[in-house]
Amino acid sequence: QKALASSERVFEVLDKDRETDRKTASEKIEVKKGKVTFHDVGFSYNGKDPVLRGMSFEVEAGETIALVGPSGVGKSTVINLLLKFYDNQSGRILIDDHEIKDLDHHEVRDMMSLVPQETILFSGSVMDNIRYGNLEASDAEVTEAARAANAHNFIMELSDGYNTEIGERGVQISGGQRQRLAIARAILKDPVILLLDEATSALDSESESLVQEATHNLMQNRTSFVIAHRLSTVKNSDKIAVMDQGKVVELGNHDDLISKGGLYKSLHDLQFK
Ligand code: ADP
Repeated sequence: QKALASSERVFEVLDKDRETDRKTASEKIEVKKGKVTFHDVGFSYNGKDPVLRGMSFEVEAGETIALVGPSGVGKSTVINLLLKFYDNQSGRILIDDHEIKDLDHHEVRDMMSLVPQETILFSGSVMDNIRYGNLEASDAEVTEAARAANAHNFIMELSDGYNTEIGERGVQISGGQRQRLAIARAILKDPVILLLDEATSALDSESESLVQEATHNLMQNRTSFVIAHRLSTVKNSDKIAVMDQGKVVELGNHDDLISKGGLYKSLHDLQFK
């Protein structure tokens, strides 16, 4: 009975249309800068309940934008659309001047790094786990990325340094250490666009400041989208997009939005005070 239910799901997946990619490999479009525009984007997961309804904003190349808003408002959905896990049903999403629907999904994912809330480590050495960000990186490049991610020192304290086995069967490392490994992976990949879903789990204050510094290093010189859970991250963003009912209702930096006294101010008072 169990297998029957599971195999139905397997066939559902097999029957799905492949991801829509309009361009062929020979027509590769190069995205260099990483300016992102959402123009009146509408999206629904099931085709009937709208999640994004006319979402519009623009982020210049190299800027950091924090997505803020009540839970369930569609912050992760914005990230899902950027990664082409789903296609928007209306409006336009542009990276530089290219519509995302015209870009190949491999191409799109190659230029982005996602740092999720929960870092997934696989069984293998620390070196392998970081190198997952760029399989062609040399050992020296991996070490350099680990340094920039504030991970080098704790790695050197592990029993076997970079060769220490981690993951399911290896040594256990703390939440803050996992996050720094994820950041090292992303630094190694050197993406044009960074998508960061900040971890909600509380870290001790030393870990917290190491993670923050590493995050700061990672965001330099690239367009960054952050689903922020820490006030410091939001405050330091070039732009804050406050979302409500599937669209951006306020856009500006921290000081602008506080003095405006709208939704951001109330969210801020509620969440961070
Ligand atoms: P946020 O990140 O702001 O908390 P999400 O983007 O995760 O919000 O979710 C927005 C809405 O879309 C919610 O109502 C959520 O239940 C729904 N949703 C999110 N992911 C999926 C999915 N994969 N399939 C169907 N509905 C989803």
